[in-house]
Amino acid sequence: MNTFQDLGLNEDLLKAITDLGFEKPSEVQDKAIPILLEEDTDLVALAQTGTGKTAAFGFPMLQKIDVDSRTTQGLILSPTRELCLQIANEMKQYGKYCKGLNVVAIYGGSSITDQAREVKRGAQVIVATPGRMKDMISRRLVDISKIQFSVLDEADEMLNMGFKEDITDILSHTPDDKNTWLFSATMPREVASIAKNFMYNPQEITVGHKNQSTNNVSHEYYLVNARDRYQALKRLADANPDIFSVIFCRTKRDTQKVAEQLIEDGYSAGALHGDLSQNQRDIVMKQFRSKQIQMLVATDVAARGIDVDNITHVINYQLSDEVETYTHRSGRTGRAGKTGVSMVIVSKSEVRRLKSIERIINKKFELKEIPNGMEICEVQLMSLANKIHNTEINHEIDKYLEDINALFEDTSKDELIKKFFSVEFTRFFNYYQKAKDLNVRAGDRDSGREHKGGGNAARFFINVGEKDGFDWMKLKDFLKEQIGLGRDDVFKVDTKDTFSFFNTEKEHQEKVLAFFNDFKHNGRFVNVEITEDKPNRGGRGRGKRRDDRKGGGDRKRNDRRSSGPRSDRRRSDNSESRSRRSESANSGSSRPRRSRR
Ligand code: ADP
Ligand code: MG
Repeated sequence: MNTFQDLGLNEDLLKAITDLGFEKPSEVQDKAIPILLEEDTDLVALAQTGTGKTAAFGFPMLQKIDVDSRTTQGLILSPTRELCLQIANEMKQYGKYCKGLNVVAIYGGSSITDQAREVKRGAQVIVATPGRMKDMISRRLVDISKIQFSVLDEADEMLNMGFKEDITDILSHTPDDKNTWLFSATMPREVASIAKNFMYNPQEITVGHKNQSTNNVSHEYYLVNARDRYQALKRLADANPDIFSVIFCRTKRDTQKVAEQLIEDGYSAGALHGDLSQNQRDIVMKQFRSKQIQMLVATDVAARGIDVDNITHVINYQLSDEVETYTHRSGRTGRAGKTGVSMVIVSKSEVRRLKSIERIINKKFELKEIPNGMEICEVQLMSLANKIHNTEINHEIDKYLEDINALFEDTSKDELIKKFFSVEFTRFFNYYQKAKDLNVRAGDRDSGREHKGGGNAARFFINVGEKDGFDWMKLKDFLKEQIGLGRDDVFKVDTKDTFSFFNTEKEHQEKVLAFFNDFKHNGRFVNVEITEDKPNRGGRGRGKRRDDRKGGGDRKRNDRRSSGPRSDRRRSDNSESRSRRSESANSGSSRPRRSRR
Protein backbone atom coordinates (compact mmCIF):
# COMPACT_ATOMS: atom_id res chain seq x y z
CA MET A 1 0.00 0.00 0.00
CA ASN A 2 1.23 3.46 -0.91
CA THR A 3 1.73 6.35 1.45
CA PHE A 4 0.49 9.81 0.53
CA GLN A 5 4.10 10.74 -0.31
CA ASP A 6 4.27 7.89 -2.82
CA LEU A 7 1.26 9.24 -4.66
CA GLY A 8 3.15 12.32 -5.75
CA LEU A 9 1.40 14.98 -3.71
CA ASN A 10 3.25 18.22 -3.00
CA GLU A 11 4.47 19.48 0.39
CA ASP A 12 1.59 21.88 1.00
CA LEU A 13 -0.92 19.10 0.62
CA LEU A 14 1.12 16.60 2.61
CA LYS A 15 1.31 19.05 5.49
CA ALA A 16 -2.45 19.46 5.45
CA ILE A 17 -2.88 15.68 5.34
CA THR A 18 -0.72 15.34 8.44
CA ASP A 19 -2.82 17.98 10.17
CA LEU A 20 -5.96 16.09 9.23
CA GLY A 21 -4.54 12.94 10.72
CA PHE A 22 -4.97 10.84 7.59
CA GLU A 23 -2.37 8.11 7.92
CA LYS A 24 -2.62 6.31 4.63
CA PRO A 25 -4.62 6.75 1.45
CA SER A 26 -7.92 4.96 1.18
CA GLU A 27 -8.32 2.57 -1.73
CA VAL A 28 -10.08 5.05 -4.02
CA GLN A 29 -7.46 7.67 -3.20
CA ASP A 30 -4.67 5.21 -3.86
CA LYS A 31 -6.10 4.38 -7.25
CA ALA A 32 -7.34 7.77 -8.40
CA ILE A 33 -4.74 10.25 -7.21
CA PRO A 34 -1.76 9.01 -9.27
CA ILE A 35 -3.86 8.81 -12.43
CA LEU A 36 -5.29 12.29 -11.97
CA LEU A 37 -1.94 13.82 -11.09
CA GLU A 38 0.01 12.28 -13.92
CA GLU A 39 -2.45 12.30 -16.75
CA ASP A 40 -4.89 14.68 -18.35
CA THR A 41 -7.69 12.22 -18.49
CA ASP A 42 -11.35 11.79 -17.86
CA LEU A 43 -12.18 9.37 -15.07
CA VAL A 44 -15.08 7.30 -13.85
CA ALA A 45 -14.63 6.16 -10.26
CA LEU A 46 -17.07 3.86 -8.58
CA ALA A 47 -16.86 3.78 -4.83
CA GLN A 48 -19.24 3.66 -1.91
CA THR A 49 -20.00 6.54 0.40
CA GLY A 50 -17.47 6.99 3.13
CA THR A 51 -14.55 5.70 1.10
CA GLY A 52 -12.81 9.08 0.86
CA LYS A 53 -13.82 10.25 -2.59
CA THR A 54 -13.57 13.94 -1.76
CA ALA A 55 -9.84 13.70 -1.21
CA ALA A 56 -9.48 11.42 -4.24
CA PHE A 57 -10.47 14.27 -6.55
CA GLY A 58 -9.71 17.12 -4.17
CA PHE A 59 -5.97 16.61 -3.75
CA PRO A 60 -5.18 16.27 -7.47
CA MET A 61 -7.37 19.24 -8.32
CA LEU A 62 -5.68 21.42 -5.72
CA GLN A 63 -2.26 20.36 -6.90
CA LYS A 64 -3.09 21.13 -10.52
CA ILE A 65 -4.80 24.49 -10.25
CA ASP A 66 -2.92 27.75 -10.36
CA VAL A 67 -3.58 29.65 -7.14
CA ASP A 68 -1.90 32.78 -8.48
CA SER A 69 -4.64 33.14 -11.04
CA ARG A 70 -8.10 34.25 -10.06
CA THR A 71 -9.77 32.40 -12.90
CA THR A 72 -12.19 29.65 -11.97
CA GLN A 73 -10.44 26.42 -12.89
CA GLY A 74 -12.29 23.69 -11.07
CA LEU A 75 -16.02 23.03 -10.80
CA ILE A 76 -17.41 20.38 -8.49
CA LEU A 77 -21.08 19.53 -8.82
CA SER A 78 -22.76 17.71 -5.98
CA PRO A 79 -26.41 16.84 -5.36
CA THR A 80 -27.27 18.61 -2.14
CA ARG A 81 -26.52 21.71 -0.18
CA GLU A 82 -25.23 19.58 2.69
CA LEU A 83 -22.72 17.80 0.52
CA CYS A 84 -21.78 20.98 -1.24
CA LEU A 85 -20.89 22.68 2.01
CA GLN A 86 -19.13 19.61 3.26
CA ILE A 87 -16.97 19.29 0.14
CA ALA A 88 -16.14 22.99 0.17
CA ASN A 89 -15.04 22.70 3.78
CA GLU A 90 -12.93 19.64 3.11
CA MET A 91 -11.34 21.36 0.12
CA LYS A 92 -10.49 24.37 2.26
CA GLN A 93 -8.86 22.11 4.82
CA TYR A 94 -6.93 20.16 2.20
CA GLY A 95 -5.75 23.44 0.70
CA LYS A 96 -5.05 25.32 3.89
CA TYR A 97 -1.36 25.73 2.99
CA CYS A 98 -2.06 26.63 -0.65
CA LYS A 99 -1.65 30.39 -0.38
CA GLY A 100 -4.21 32.38 -2.31
CA LEU A 101 -6.63 29.48 -2.72
CA ASN A 102 -10.27 30.46 -2.73
CA VAL A 103 -12.97 27.78 -2.64
CA VAL A 104 -16.57 28.97 -2.91
CA ALA A 105 -19.74 27.00 -2.31
CA ILE A 106 -22.82 27.78 -4.35
CA TYR A 107 -26.16 26.32 -3.34
CA GLY A 108 -29.81 27.20 -3.13
CA GLY A 109 -31.64 28.55 -0.13
CA SER A 110 -29.04 31.18 0.64
CA SER A 111 -28.34 34.64 -0.79
CA ILE A 112 -27.35 34.48 -4.43
CA THR A 113 -25.81 37.96 -4.31
CA ASP A 114 -23.53 37.00 -1.45
CA GLN A 115 -22.41 33.95 -3.34
CA ALA A 116 -21.88 35.98 -6.50
CA ARG A 117 -19.77 38.45 -4.57
CA GLU A 118 -17.57 35.66 -3.25
CA VAL A 119 -17.13 34.25 -6.73
CA LYS A 120 -16.20 37.65 -8.04
CA ARG A 121 -13.36 37.95 -5.55
CA GLY A 122 -11.73 35.16 -7.52
CA ALA A 123 -12.64 31.54 -6.86
CA GLN A 124 -10.31 28.98 -8.35
CA VAL A 125 -12.65 26.23 -7.21
CA ILE A 126 -16.43 26.33 -7.14
CA VAL A 127 -18.46 23.65 -5.41
CA ALA A 128 -22.08 23.85 -6.49
CA THR A 129 -25.46 22.21 -6.56
CA PRO A 130 -26.74 21.94 -10.15
CA GLY A 131 -29.86 24.05 -9.66
CA ARG A 132 -28.17 27.10 -8.20
CA MET A 133 -25.24 26.76 -10.58
CA LYS A 134 -27.52 26.89 -13.58
CA ASP A 135 -29.26 29.88 -12.13
CA MET A 136 -26.01 31.75 -11.66
CA ILE A 137 -24.82 30.93 -15.14
CA SER A 138 -27.99 32.25 -16.71
CA ARG A 139 -27.63 35.44 -14.68
CA ARG A 140 -24.00 35.68 -15.73
CA LEU A 141 -22.81 35.66 -12.15
CA VAL A 142 -20.18 33.00 -12.78
CA ASP A 143 -17.84 32.26 -15.62
CA ILE A 144 -16.94 28.64 -16.10
CA SER A 145 -15.74 28.99 -19.66
CA LYS A 146 -12.12 28.43 -18.65
CA ILE A 147 -12.39 25.56 -16.24
CA GLN A 148 -9.95 22.68 -16.62
CA PHE A 149 -11.55 20.23 -14.24
CA SER A 150 -15.13 19.34 -13.64
CA VAL A 151 -16.15 16.83 -11.02
CA LEU A 152 -19.53 15.13 -10.91
CA ASP A 153 -19.71 13.91 -7.34
CA GLU A 154 -22.35 11.38 -6.31
CA ALA A 155 -23.37 11.30 -9.97
CA ASP A 156 -25.98 8.61 -9.45
CA GLU A 157 -27.70 10.61 -6.78
CA MET A 158 -27.67 13.78 -8.86
CA LEU A 159 -29.35 11.92 -11.69
CA ASN A 160 -31.80 10.29 -9.31
CA MET A 161 -32.79 13.70 -8.16
CA GLY A 162 -33.57 14.80 -11.68
CA PHE A 163 -30.59 17.03 -12.29
CA LYS A 164 -29.72 15.56 -15.67
CA GLU A 165 -30.88 18.56 -17.67
CA ASP A 166 -29.22 21.03 -15.37
CA ILE A 167 -25.96 19.14 -15.57
CA THR A 168 -26.13 18.99 -19.35
CA ASP A 169 -26.82 22.67 -19.45
CA ILE A 170 -23.98 23.53 -17.10
CA LEU A 171 -21.48 21.39 -18.96
CA SER A 172 -22.38 23.10 -22.22
CA HIS A 173 -20.86 26.27 -20.77
CA THR A 174 -17.52 24.59 -20.10
CA PRO A 175 -14.64 24.14 -22.54
CA ASP A 176 -14.36 20.90 -24.46
CA ASP A 177 -10.79 20.26 -23.49
CA LYS A 178 -11.40 20.14 -19.74
CA ASN A 179 -11.17 16.88 -17.82
CA THR A 180 -14.26 15.41 -16.27
CA TRP A 181 -14.03 13.20 -13.21
CA LEU A 182 -17.18 11.33 -12.32
CA PHE A 183 -17.65 9.77 -8.89
CA SER A 184 -20.55 7.53 -8.10
CA ALA A 185 -21.52 4.77 -5.71
CA THR A 186 -23.52 2.89 -8.30
CA MET A 187 -23.49 2.71 -12.08
CA PRO A 188 -27.07 2.74 -13.33
CA ARG A 189 -27.75 3.29 -17.01
CA GLU A 190 -28.14 7.06 -16.64
CA VAL A 191 -24.65 7.40 -15.22
CA ALA A 192 -23.20 5.28 -17.99
CA SER A 193 -24.90 7.51 -20.53
CA ILE A 194 -23.44 10.65 -18.96
CA ALA A 195 -20.02 9.04 -19.12
CA LYS A 196 -20.58 8.15 -22.74
CA ASN A 197 -21.93 11.51 -23.86
CA PHE A 198 -19.88 13.94 -21.86
CA MET A 199 -16.58 12.25 -21.32
CA TYR A 200 -13.75 11.37 -23.61
CA ASN A 201 -12.32 7.91 -23.27
CA PRO A 202 -12.55 7.88 -19.48
CA GLN A 203 -10.36 5.63 -17.39
CA GLU A 204 -12.37 3.59 -14.97
CA ILE A 205 -11.59 2.56 -11.44
CA THR A 206 -13.77 0.51 -9.15
CA VAL A 207 -13.34 0.13 -5.45
CA GLY A 208 -14.82 -3.09 -4.19
CA HIS A 209 -17.48 -4.82 -6.19
CA LYS A 210 -19.53 -2.56 -8.43
CA ASN A 211 -22.52 -1.23 -6.53
CA GLN A 212 -21.42 -3.12 -3.49
CA SER A 213 -21.89 -1.70 -0.07
CA THR A 214 -18.92 -1.48 2.22
CA ASN A 215 -17.75 -4.50 4.10
CA ASN A 216 -18.24 -2.71 7.34
CA VAL A 217 -21.98 -3.03 7.14
CA SER A 218 -23.91 -6.15 8.05
CA HIS A 219 -27.36 -6.60 6.62
CA GLU A 220 -30.23 -7.99 8.68
CA TYR A 221 -33.92 -8.40 8.17
CA TYR A 222 -36.83 -8.86 10.53
CA LEU A 223 -39.99 -10.55 9.41
CA VAL A 224 -43.16 -9.13 10.97
CA ASN A 225 -46.76 -8.49 10.08
CA ALA A 226 -47.21 -5.23 8.24
CA ARG A 227 -49.29 -3.81 11.05
CA ASP A 228 -46.57 -4.55 13.63
CA ARG A 229 -43.98 -2.50 11.80
CA TYR A 230 -43.97 0.35 14.26
CA GLN A 231 -43.89 -1.89 17.33
CA ALA A 232 -40.98 -3.75 15.76
CA LEU A 233 -39.15 -0.47 15.22
CA LYS A 234 -39.54 0.44 18.86
CA ARG A 235 -38.26 -2.90 20.00
CA LEU A 236 -35.21 -2.60 17.80
CA ALA A 237 -34.55 0.79 19.32
CA ASP A 238 -35.08 -0.46 22.87
CA ALA A 239 -32.84 -3.44 22.26
CA ASN A 240 -30.07 -1.04 21.20
CA PRO A 241 -29.93 1.58 23.94
CA ASP A 242 -27.06 3.48 22.35
CA ILE A 243 -28.61 3.49 18.92
CA PHE A 244 -27.73 6.42 16.67
CA SER A 245 -29.65 5.82 13.53
CA VAL A 246 -31.32 6.92 10.36
CA ILE A 247 -34.74 5.38 9.76
CA PHE A 248 -35.94 5.38 6.19
CA CYS A 249 -39.58 5.65 5.19
CA ARG A 250 -41.03 5.73 1.72
CA THR A 251 -43.05 8.92 1.83
CA LYS A 252 -42.82 12.31 3.48
CA ARG A 253 -46.06 11.59 5.21
CA ASP A 254 -44.91 8.31 6.74
CA THR A 255 -41.65 9.93 7.71
CA GLN A 256 -43.45 12.66 9.59
CA LYS A 257 -45.86 10.17 11.12
CA VAL A 258 -43.24 7.75 12.38
CA ALA A 259 -41.12 10.57 13.78
CA GLU A 260 -44.08 12.09 15.58
CA GLN A 261 -45.05 8.74 16.99
CA LEU A 262 -41.55 8.10 18.25
CA ILE A 263 -41.39 11.52 19.85
CA GLU A 264 -44.76 10.96 21.45
CA ASP A 265 -43.51 7.63 22.76
CA GLY A 266 -40.58 9.30 24.40
CA TYR A 267 -37.73 8.64 21.99
CA SER A 268 -35.34 11.34 20.93
CA ALA A 269 -36.38 11.38 17.29
CA GLY A 270 -36.72 13.91 14.51
CA ALA A 271 -38.11 14.06 10.98
CA LEU A 272 -36.21 15.07 7.85
CA HIS A 273 -38.15 15.44 4.62
CA GLY A 274 -38.89 17.81 1.80
CA ASP A 275 -41.98 19.40 3.31
CA LEU A 276 -39.86 21.02 5.96
CA SER A 277 -38.28 24.38 5.30
CA GLN A 278 -34.53 24.61 4.87
CA ASN A 279 -34.31 26.16 8.28
CA GLN A 280 -36.25 23.34 9.91
CA ARG A 281 -34.04 20.81 8.19
CA ASP A 282 -30.94 22.61 9.37
CA ILE A 283 -32.18 22.51 12.94
CA VAL A 284 -32.93 18.81 12.78
CA MET A 285 -29.57 18.04 11.21
CA LYS A 286 -27.78 20.08 13.84
CA GLN A 287 -29.57 18.19 16.59
CA PHE A 288 -28.75 14.91 14.92
CA ARG A 289 -25.09 15.75 14.49
CA SER A 290 -24.83 16.70 18.14
CA LYS A 291 -26.68 13.48 19.02
CA GLN A 292 -29.53 15.31 20.67
CA ILE A 293 -31.55 13.25 18.24
CA GLN A 294 -30.84 9.52 18.35
CA MET A 295 -33.25 8.48 15.65
CA LEU A 296 -33.55 10.52 12.50
CA VAL A 297 -36.53 9.50 10.42
CA ALA A 298 -35.96 10.50 6.82
CA THR A 299 -37.04 10.18 3.23
CA ASP A 300 -34.46 9.03 0.72
CA VAL A 301 -34.25 12.38 -0.97
CA ALA A 302 -33.82 14.34 2.22
CA ALA A 303 -31.23 11.92 3.57
CA ARG A 304 -28.96 12.34 0.58
CA GLY A 305 -25.90 14.05 1.73
CA ILE A 306 -26.14 13.00 5.33
CA ASP A 307 -22.49 12.73 6.11
CA VAL A 308 -22.66 11.99 9.80
CA ASP A 309 -20.05 9.53 10.97
CA ASN A 310 -20.72 7.01 13.74
CA ILE A 311 -24.24 6.12 12.68
CA THR A 312 -24.71 2.71 14.29
CA HIS A 313 -27.88 1.55 12.54
CA VAL A 314 -29.72 2.23 9.35
CA ILE A 315 -33.27 1.01 9.66
CA ASN A 316 -35.33 0.42 6.55
CA TYR A 317 -38.75 0.93 8.05
CA GLN A 318 -40.13 0.45 4.56
CA LEU A 319 -38.13 -0.67 1.56
CA SER A 320 -37.87 1.71 -1.34
CA ASP A 321 -39.39 0.77 -4.68
CA GLU A 322 -36.01 1.03 -6.30
CA VAL A 323 -33.50 -1.59 -5.28
CA GLU A 324 -30.54 0.74 -5.87
CA THR A 325 -31.80 2.97 -3.11
CA TYR A 326 -30.86 0.36 -0.56
CA THR A 327 -27.17 0.86 -1.30
CA HIS A 328 -27.45 4.54 -0.55
CA ARG A 329 -29.37 3.93 2.61
CA SER A 330 -27.04 1.33 4.03
CA GLY A 331 -24.06 3.46 3.05
CA ARG A 332 -25.04 5.96 5.73
CA THR A 333 -23.56 3.63 8.31
CA GLY A 334 -20.19 1.89 8.39
CA ARG A 335 -18.41 5.07 7.36
CA ALA A 336 -14.81 6.02 8.01
CA GLY A 337 -13.72 2.56 9.06
CA LYS A 338 -16.52 2.02 11.60
CA THR A 339 -18.89 -0.92 11.52
CA GLY A 340 -22.63 -0.56 11.17
CA VAL A 341 -25.82 -2.51 10.81
CA SER A 342 -28.46 -2.05 8.15
CA MET A 343 -31.79 -3.49 9.28
CA VAL A 344 -34.84 -4.10 7.15
CA ILE A 345 -38.30 -4.56 8.61
CA VAL A 346 -40.33 -6.58 6.12
CA SER A 347 -43.65 -8.30 5.88
CA LYS A 348 -43.90 -11.64 4.17
CA SER A 349 -45.04 -10.20 0.88
CA GLU A 350 -41.88 -8.10 0.67
CA VAL A 351 -39.34 -10.81 1.41
CA ARG A 352 -38.70 -11.62 -2.21
CA ARG A 353 -37.53 -8.06 -2.82
CA LEU A 354 -34.62 -8.74 -0.53
CA LYS A 355 -33.35 -11.19 -3.11
CA SER A 356 -32.98 -8.49 -5.75
CA ILE A 357 -31.19 -6.30 -3.24
CA GLU A 358 -28.85 -9.13 -2.34
CA ARG A 359 -27.88 -9.42 -5.99
CA ILE A 360 -27.04 -5.74 -6.13
CA ILE A 361 -25.08 -5.48 -2.92
CA ASN A 362 -23.58 -8.91 -3.44
CA LYS A 363 -24.18 -9.75 0.19
CA LYS A 364 -26.67 -11.92 2.02
CA PHE A 365 -29.25 -10.69 4.46
CA GLU A 366 -29.37 -12.46 7.77
CA LEU A 367 -32.80 -13.21 9.21
CA LYS A 368 -32.94 -11.98 12.79
CA GLU A 369 -35.66 -12.08 15.40
CA ILE A 370 -37.28 -9.07 16.95
CA PRO A 371 -36.19 -9.37 20.58
CA ASN A 372 -38.88 -10.34 23.04
CA GLY A 373 -39.82 -8.27 26.04
CA MET A 374 -37.55 -9.97 28.56
CA GLU A 375 -34.56 -9.77 26.26
CA ILE A 376 -35.10 -6.04 25.98
CA CYS A 377 -35.44 -5.66 29.74
CA GLU A 378 -32.16 -7.48 30.15
CA VAL A 379 -30.37 -5.32 27.59
CA GLN A 380 -31.69 -2.17 29.19
CA LEU A 381 -30.72 -3.33 32.64
CA MET A 382 -27.19 -4.26 31.65
CA SER A 383 -26.79 -1.05 29.71
CA LEU A 384 -27.77 0.87 32.81
CA ALA A 385 -25.40 -1.18 34.95
CA ASN A 386 -22.56 -0.40 32.56
CA LYS A 387 -23.41 3.26 32.50
CA ILE A 388 -23.39 3.40 36.27
CA HIS A 389 -20.15 1.45 36.41
CA ASN A 390 -18.51 3.93 34.06
CA THR A 391 -19.95 7.04 35.62
CA GLU A 392 -17.52 9.46 37.13
CA ILE A 393 -18.46 10.33 40.67
CA ASN A 394 -19.70 13.83 41.25
CA HIS A 395 -18.33 14.74 44.64
CA GLU A 396 -20.94 17.39 45.19
CA ILE A 397 -22.90 14.44 46.44
CA ASP A 398 -20.46 13.86 49.30
CA LYS A 399 -22.09 16.35 51.55
CA TYR A 400 -25.42 14.54 51.38
CA LEU A 401 -23.83 11.17 51.91
CA GLU A 402 -24.43 11.12 55.61
CA ASP A 403 -28.16 11.66 55.26
CA ILE A 404 -28.44 9.15 52.45
CA ASN A 405 -26.47 6.59 54.42
CA ALA A 406 -28.72 7.11 57.38
CA LEU A 407 -31.72 6.36 55.20
CA PHE A 408 -30.19 3.13 53.98
CA GLU A 409 -28.69 2.08 57.26
CA ASP A 410 -30.59 -1.18 57.33
CA THR A 411 -30.36 -1.91 53.62
CA SER A 412 -27.80 -4.44 52.44
CA LYS A 413 -25.72 -3.77 49.33
CA ASP A 414 -27.65 -6.40 47.37
CA GLU A 415 -30.92 -4.92 48.39
CA LEU A 416 -29.76 -1.43 47.59
CA ILE A 417 -28.67 -2.45 44.12
CA LYS A 418 -31.97 -4.16 43.50
CA LYS A 419 -33.93 -1.16 44.59
CA PHE A 420 -31.77 1.19 42.60
CA PHE A 421 -32.11 -0.75 39.39
CA SER A 422 -35.79 -1.33 39.87
CA VAL A 423 -36.38 2.36 39.35
CA GLU A 424 -35.45 1.94 35.73
CA PHE A 425 -36.15 -1.72 35.18
CA THR A 426 -39.73 -1.73 36.36
CA ARG A 427 -40.85 0.63 33.66
CA PHE A 428 -39.52 -1.58 30.92
CA PHE A 429 -40.71 -4.66 32.70
CA ASN A 430 -44.25 -3.39 33.10
CA TYR A 431 -44.37 -2.38 29.51
CA TYR A 432 -42.87 -5.53 28.11
CA GLN A 433 -43.94 -8.33 30.43
CA LYS A 434 -46.99 -9.17 28.37
CA ALA A 435 -45.60 -8.07 25.04
CA LYS A 436 -46.35 -10.50 22.26
CA ASP A 437 -43.93 -12.13 19.88
CA LEU A 438 -43.77 -9.95 16.78
CA ASN A 439 -41.87 -12.38 14.61
CA VAL A 440 -43.53 -14.08 11.69
CA ARG A 441 -42.11 -17.55 11.13
CA ALA A 442 -41.74 -19.44 7.93
CA GLY A 443 -44.87 -21.54 8.43
CA ASP A 444 -47.08 -18.69 9.62
CA ARG A 445 -49.78 -17.26 7.52
CA ASP A 446 -49.13 -13.70 6.57
CA SER A 447 -51.78 -12.35 8.79
CA GLY A 448 -50.91 -8.87 7.61
CA ARG A 449 -52.59 -9.92 4.39
CA GLU A 450 -54.93 -12.43 5.87
CA HIS A 451 -56.89 -10.03 7.97
CA LYS A 452 -57.43 -7.69 5.10
CA GLY A 453 -60.40 -9.61 3.94
CA GLY A 454 -61.58 -10.50 7.37
CA GLY A 455 -62.31 -9.09 10.76
CA ASN A 456 -59.73 -6.35 10.79
CA ALA A 457 -60.78 -4.65 7.62
CA ALA A 458 -63.21 -1.79 7.21
CA ARG A 459 -65.31 -1.79 4.07
CA PHE A 460 -66.34 1.51 2.62
CA PHE A 461 -69.00 2.66 0.25
CA ILE A 462 -68.13 5.66 -1.92
CA ASN A 463 -70.48 7.41 -4.30
CA VAL A 464 -68.15 7.66 -7.25
CA GLY A 465 -67.79 4.94 -9.84
CA GLU A 466 -67.14 4.16 -13.46
CA LYS A 467 -69.31 7.06 -14.62
CA ASP A 468 -66.81 9.32 -12.90
CA GLY A 469 -63.97 7.76 -14.83
CA PHE A 470 -62.74 5.31 -12.21
CA ASP A 471 -61.83 1.71 -12.74
CA TRP A 472 -60.62 -0.18 -9.70
CA MET A 473 -56.98 0.66 -10.26
CA LYS A 474 -57.63 4.35 -10.75
CA LEU A 475 -59.81 4.47 -7.70
CA LYS A 476 -57.19 2.68 -5.65
CA ASP A 477 -54.50 5.12 -6.74
CA PHE A 478 -56.81 8.04 -6.15
CA LEU A 479 -57.56 6.90 -2.62
CA LYS A 480 -53.96 6.19 -1.78
CA GLU A 481 -52.74 9.50 -3.08
CA GLN A 482 -55.49 11.65 -1.71
CA ILE A 483 -55.66 10.14 1.72
CA GLY A 484 -51.98 9.40 1.86
CA LEU A 485 -52.23 5.67 2.48
CA GLY A 486 -49.45 3.19 1.75
CA ARG A 487 -49.33 0.99 -1.29
CA ASP A 488 -50.97 -2.00 0.34
CA ASP A 489 -53.41 -0.10 2.48
CA VAL A 490 -56.34 0.01 0.07
CA PHE A 491 -57.63 -3.31 -1.19
CA LYS A 492 -60.67 -5.15 -2.52
CA VAL A 493 -61.69 -2.22 -4.66
CA ASP A 494 -64.88 -2.85 -6.63
CA THR A 495 -66.11 -0.15 -8.95
CA LYS A 496 -69.75 -0.05 -10.07
CA ASP A 497 -71.50 2.40 -12.34
CA THR A 498 -72.14 5.26 -9.95
CA PHE A 499 -70.61 3.95 -6.74
CA SER A 500 -67.81 1.71 -5.53
CA PHE A 501 -66.50 -0.19 -2.54
CA PHE A 502 -63.08 -0.53 -1.04
CA ASN A 503 -61.39 -1.89 2.05
CA THR A 504 -58.73 -0.55 4.34
CA GLU A 505 -57.49 -1.94 7.59
CA LYS A 506 -59.57 -0.76 10.53
CA GLU A 507 -56.75 1.40 11.79
CA HIS A 508 -57.18 3.67 8.76
CA GLN A 509 -60.93 3.92 9.11
CA GLU A 510 -61.04 7.21 10.94
CA LYS A 511 -58.53 8.78 8.64
CA VAL A 512 -60.54 7.80 5.58
CA LEU A 513 -63.77 9.13 7.00
CA ALA A 514 -62.20 12.32 8.21
CA PHE A 515 -60.68 12.90 4.82
CA PHE A 516 -63.99 12.67 3.00
CA ASN A 517 -65.79 14.82 5.50
CA ASP A 518 -66.07 17.73 3.11
CA PHE A 519 -64.30 16.51 0.04
CA LYS A 520 -65.47 17.46 -3.45
CA HIS A 521 -64.69 15.63 -6.66
CA ASN A 522 -65.59 17.44 -9.89
CA GLY A 523 -67.62 19.92 -7.89
CA ARG A 524 -69.69 17.28 -6.14
CA PHE A 525 -69.44 16.29 -2.49
CA VAL A 526 -68.17 12.77 -2.15
CA ASN A 527 -69.96 10.58 0.33
CA VAL A 528 -68.11 7.78 2.02
CA GLU A 529 -69.62 5.45 4.55
CA ILE A 530 -68.77 2.28 6.33
CA THR A 531 -70.62 -0.68 4.98
CA GLU A 532 -70.58 -4.40 5.60
CA ASP A 533 -68.08 -6.66 4.00
CA LYS A 534 -70.58 -7.89 1.43
CA PRO A 535 -70.23 -5.56 -1.49
CA ASN A 536 -72.94 -7.00 -3.66
CA ARG A 537 -75.67 -7.31 -1.15
CA GLY A 538 -77.81 -4.30 -0.56
CA GLY A 539 -75.43 -1.71 -1.97
CA ARG A 540 -75.24 1.49 -0.04
CA GLY A 541 -78.17 0.94 2.23
CA ARG A 542 -76.13 -0.56 5.02
CA GLY A 543 -73.93 2.36 5.84
CA LYS A 544 -73.48 3.11 9.50
CA ARG A 545 -73.52 6.57 10.91
CA ARG A 546 -70.25 8.10 11.79
CA ASP A 547 -70.88 8.26 15.52
CA ASP A 548 -70.59 4.49 15.69
CA ARG A 549 -67.00 4.68 14.77
CA LYS A 550 -65.84 6.91 17.52
CA GLY A 551 -65.22 4.16 20.00
CA GLY A 552 -62.76 2.36 17.82
CA GLY A 553 -60.82 5.46 17.03
CA ASP A 554 -60.40 6.58 20.60
CA ARG A 555 -59.31 3.18 21.70
CA LYS A 556 -56.55 3.24 19.18
CA ARG A 557 -55.38 6.60 20.31
CA ASN A 558 -55.24 5.49 23.89
CA ASP A 559 -53.13 2.55 22.93
CA ARG A 560 -50.64 4.86 21.38
CA ARG A 561 -50.51 7.20 24.31
CA SER A 562 -49.29 4.52 26.61
CA SER A 563 -47.16 2.82 24.08
CA GLY A 564 -43.66 3.48 25.25
CA PRO A 565 -41.72 2.44 28.30
CA ARG A 566 -39.59 5.50 27.75
CA SER A 567 -42.38 8.01 27.87
CA ASP A 568 -41.94 9.68 31.23
CA ARG A 569 -38.17 9.59 31.29
CA ARG A 570 -37.52 11.22 27.96
CA ARG A 571 -40.28 13.66 28.30
CA SER A 572 -38.54 15.43 31.11
CA ASP A 573 -35.17 15.12 29.41
CA ASN A 574 -35.69 17.26 26.41
CA SER A 575 -39.26 18.28 26.32
CA GLU A 576 -38.27 21.75 25.32
CA SER A 577 -36.42 20.81 22.20
CA ARG A 578 -39.05 18.25 21.45
CA SER A 579 -41.97 20.59 21.53
CA ARG A 580 -40.09 23.06 19.48
CA ARG A 581 -39.32 20.37 17.02
CA SER A 582 -42.75 18.94 16.67
CA GLU A 583 -44.15 22.41 16.35
CA SER A 584 -41.87 23.19 13.49
CA ALA A 585 -42.38 19.77 12.03
CA ASN A 586 -46.12 20.23 12.06
CA SER A 587 -46.16 23.52 10.31
CA GLY A 588 -44.57 21.88 7.31
CA SER A 589 -47.52 19.65 6.67
CA SER A 590 -50.42 20.90 8.69
CA ARG A 591 -52.88 20.45 5.86
CA PRO A 592 -51.14 18.07 3.55
CA ARG A 593 -54.19 17.02 1.62
CA ARG A 594 -54.99 20.54 0.59
CA SER A 595 -51.55 21.13 -0.80
CA ARG A 596 -51.15 17.80 -2.51
CA ARG A 597 -52.74 18.70 -5.78
P1 ADP B 1 -17.16 9.84 0.34
O1 ADP B 1 -17.18 11.11 -0.45
O2 ADP B 1 -16.56 8.69 -0.40
O3 ADP B 1 -18.49 9.50 0.92
P2 ADP B 1 -15.61 11.39 2.16
O4 ADP B 1 -14.65 11.97 1.21
O5 ADP B 1 -16.71 12.26 2.63
O6 ADP B 1 -16.20 10.03 1.59
O7 ADP B 1 -14.78 10.81 3.42
C1 ADP B 1 -15.41 10.18 4.51
C2 ADP B 1 -14.67 10.46 5.80
O8 ADP B 1 -13.38 9.83 5.81
C3 ADP B 1 -14.40 11.94 6.01
O9 ADP B 1 -14.64 12.24 7.37
C4 ADP B 1 -12.94 12.11 5.65
O10 ADP B 1 -12.36 13.20 6.33
C5 ADP B 1 -12.35 10.78 6.07
N1 ADP B 1 -11.17 10.38 5.27
C6 ADP B 1 -10.99 10.53 3.94
N2 ADP B 1 -9.82 10.03 3.55
C7 ADP B 1 -9.23 9.52 4.65
C8 ADP B 1 -7.96 8.87 4.90
N3 ADP B 1 -7.10 8.62 3.91
N4 ADP B 1 -7.70 8.48 6.17
C9 ADP B 1 -8.58 8.74 7.17
N5 ADP B 1 -9.77 9.35 7.01
C10 ADP B 1 -10.09 9.74 5.75
MG1 MG C 1 -18.56 12.34 -1.06
